[in-house]
Amino acid sequence: MKIREVEGDIIETTGGNSYAYAQKEIINSSEEVVSQVGAESGVKYGKPLIPILVYEESYIVHFRPNRTWKGEFGFDWVRNGTDSTVQVDERYSDIVGKYGMHYATSKKAKFIKSFQEYFKCVKEYNVISSIREKYYIPFLTLLGGQEVTLDLYYRISKITDSVEFDYNKELFTVILNQSHPSEEGTYYNANAITIRALKSFNKNQSIKIVKIEDGIKSIVGELVIVKNGEIKNVKILLINVSYPTIDGQKDISPEEILVLRNSLNQAYILPDIEELSDDLVVESNWYDEIFFTAKTKGDKKVLDDSNIRSIVHYFDDIFMNEKENDIYNMYYRIYSVPNSKNLNGIAGGVGNEKAVVVFGNRDNTTTVSHELLHAMGLYHSFDNDAGYTFEIYKTDNIMDYSHHKNKNRFTTTIWQWRKLNDKL
Ligand SMILES: [Zn+2]
Repeated sequence: MKIREVEGDIIETTGGNSYAYAQKEIINSSEEVVSQVGAESGVKYGKPLIPILVYEESYIVHFRPNRTWKGEFGFDWVRNGTDSTVQVDERYSDIVGKYGMHYATSKKAKFIKSFQEYFKCVKEYNVISSIREKYYIPFLTLLGGQEVTLDLYYRISKITDSVEFDYNKELFTVILNQSHPSEEGTYYNANAITIRALKSFNKNQSIKIVKIEDGIKSIVGELVIVKNGEIKNVKILLINVSYPTIDGQKDISPEEILVLRNSLNQAYILPDIEELSDDLVVESNWYDEIFFTAKTKGDKKVLDDSNIRSIVHYFDDIFMNEKENDIYNMYYRIYSVPNSKNLNGIAGGVGNEKAVVVFGNRDNTTTVSHELLHAMGLYHSFDNDAGYTFEIYKTDNIMDYSHHKNKNRFTTTIWQWRKLNDKL
């Protein structure tokens, strides 16, 4: 308890916002009048903000992916911006919010970060109750037989008697590649721990780090490994489209296939990928007729955005109208078509879609995955409909546009895994 007694007035002025937080009641009482005056809307009622209270814990360990991680496994954590070495690591409390009336890609777009949205988002993660500061437990997806090497970040203000791992030894092997620090301080141990899933499991598992002090055990770090007992299988067909007078069609490369497999594996989806042996030859003048439709400026035809999605259905209708292609009805169909003016790829819509298009002039290896994940139900990470809305270009999520800013995009989140795979 802290008590302050002042005989005269107390005046506090701030140029920005002023917050007062309490875990229990806030009481303002006066022998005369209590006035609360707000110029705009007076006194507001609503859900309280929860303050981020920072306590100094004596021993904390965080699991983090290595800097060389390219998405070979799913790893999702509440980004803090200070405790990992990955290329893109923006603090979530700075980049979760909502866009205003203009879409994020518009020049007029305005992003407003929101603590309410942030707190909704971090509820996706479990916390360790024995740690007083908010320790959000990361999620890892690991297939049976798969092995992963992770980093450990330590913050130690008091060294402890001993530290051990607690996990199901029938399901995992855990090898510590570097011994725990023996002195106080902060340590980032790259490739510190190797975890192998020996088999499949139908319940979420966890690997806990436990410190023992004076015979008392307490959890100082944890990682959840999402149940991998039920894998979802999908069939994918790659279709090369050729058009007599426009070239620039580019086959989907082995690297793009690898990125695609990785991104699906993150959500425990195993794709069976086939390539159609013959090109789909398109006769009509699709480029003019579909890309450059209604709008005419002077004697030039101008891209009409409203019709872009119809490109996907245009190709898909030609292909699926052939009776012999009925066998591909259940497949996701990726059409690789000649160059576009300025598009890498396009999905027919978000969710309940089977077809996507990628263009020959696509400039990065993640377009194929990005478009397919749209078809499978994922919005852009910066879309107000995405569940949680992140500021554009600030994440390494496959559904962001960060590649425009020379940032690699290859990750997906726990809520995206659940959306892609209803078995999770
Ligand atoms: Zn997109």
